[in-house]
Amino acid sequence: MSPQKPAIWFEGTTTTHGEFALAVRRAATVLHDLGVQRGDRVAWLGANHPVGLELLYACGQLGAVWVPVNARLTPPEAQYVLQHSGASVVVHGREHVGTAEVLRPQLPGVTHWLSAEPAPDVDHRDVQAGHAADRGSPAADADDHHQEGSLPWWELTAAADAVLRDEAVTHDDVCLVMYTSGTTGKPKGAVLTHGNMTWACLNQVLSLEGGPDERTLGLAPLFHVGGLNGTVNPTLLRGGCVVLVRGFDPAGTLQVISEQRVTSFFAVPTMMDALARQPGFATLDLSALRTVAAAGAPLPLPLLHTWLDRGITVQQAYGMTETAPAGTMLDSADAVAKVGSAGKSQFFVDVRVVRPDGTECAPGEIGEVVLSGPNVMQGYWDAPEATAAVLVDGWYHSGDAGSVDDEGYLTIRDRYKDMIISGGENVYPAEVESTMLELPEVQEVAVIGVPDAHWGEVGLAVVVPTPGTVPDPEALRAALRERLAGFKVPKHVRFVTELPKTATGKVRKPDLRAELAP
Ligand code: ATP
Ligand code: MG
Repeated sequence: MSPQKPAIWFEGTTTTHGEFALAVRRAATVLHDLGVQRGDRVAWLGANHPVGLELLYACGQLGAVWVPVNARLTPPEAQYVLQHSGASVVVHGREHVGTAEVLRPQLPGVTHWLSAEPAPDVDHRDVQAGHAADRGSPAADADDHHQEGSLPWWELTAAADAVLRDEAVTHDDVCLVMYTSGTTGKPKGAVLTHGNMTWACLNQVLSLEGGPDERTLGLAPLFHVGGLNGTVNPTLLRGGCVVLVRGFDPAGTLQVISEQRVTSFFAVPTMMDALARQPGFATLDLSALRTVAAAGAPLPLPLLHTWLDRGITVQQAYGMTETAPAGTMLDSADAVAKVGSAGKSQFFVDVRVVRPDGTECAPGEIGEVVLSGPNVMQGYWDAPEATAAVLVDGWYHSGDAGSVDDEGYLTIRDRYKDMIISGGENVYPAEVESTMLELPEVQEVAVIGVPDAHWGEVGLAVVVPTPGTVPDPEALRAALRERLAGFKVPKHVRFVTELPKTATGKVRKPDLRAELAP
């Protein structure tokens, strides 16, 4: 790959592959001078930013462990992740100056706090004066546990040596601890080695369409596996360019897609929905955009068709943090014939659907999806019981219900935790939600199970109505009865203005249950 080729575009600045490699070396020098050693955890707390990626690769060179922290966590939630992972260095974005202030006294284990970039709205002369003056070298601060402001990462790296540190890191060394989305509870730290990352990214490179001139949009958060390894790392690996956006602003993102001639990106369905609702979706020049890799949550069929109708292929994929996230992916050639399927096992991973006794399901039979391969995590960080519950005889048990057709194509039904058992029948909320979204009055919907004296459990549909409509619950239920078996039709309907979501836009059903279940 040519070092002159663009690697990262971010807010108007392009960094070539050659420049990025040097930035990574400088970052490794700074970490090394701060005392970071093999196995130490270095946290990145921020929105999407090139420094996050530099840190990942710099940690890799040192054998240190990158811990990306969900930028949307509240200070106590971020504290949990930083404490649990035992991070000794925290680099944060400009949005997290306040969080760093709050957490600094709470986390004595963190010896260094660094700010990735100048914060536009504060006067950093104080921060810089407080440190630059008495700082002979960054390491001079190593014993100072009473750091006042965060050190200016951008200054330290600018002054650092771009020497290559070759720490003989192997595939078995831990590369990162990535916390799961926390859709179903407290996030768990998946321990991923360099080998896991390599095999996961190779899987993506082999399954994603496109080549060395790819311009992928880095839209989903890098602190989640889809954002990091969905298309971003695979694109860097094959010499393409990442068009990185800090956060998700649907109208602005569409502009970037158009102006930067973005060819592909990874997104969860909620993001695809928000983009498709923008006026620019129909009017902007999106002719460079070939394909969207969609994963992370069930993809409603009406949404899939909206994108296909716009001439943009959707490669539905299925994976998770624990597999970095390789699992299955659909070729775009199959997008219509296998509509709704998440495709076949990727090259270097084995995906199966099994019964509770571990035997493989017959075609069409619904069972638990299990995965095995060199991309499967080592376990959860400091959580042996949670690890033992999901890693059994080399197979990762996903807790997802799915089925495989006679040609090997996987369809994900839903999470078992979200399944509703109504009068002895299994109801997969994803199917009900997908059907409800065909109704014009329904903009967003989440279906949860609530206790019922007669049926055991029944569905409660929590609906965000389409603006300008005032749907009638009985009319919605009547429309559904024409499309779905009676036991699948939610018995209750509630209207809300917003659904609680994770940073990637997955609906947090435990929050809904806590708020709304009777
Ligand atoms: P947590 O484990 O903390 O509750 P999470 O499971 O949402 O959060 P991730 O690892 O980001 O964390 O997401 C993986 C999960 O997302 C899968 O186990 C599955 O439930 C869901 N998922 C991924 N891809 C798809 C897909 N194509 N269709 C349906 N669901 C999907
Ligand atoms: Mg999970």
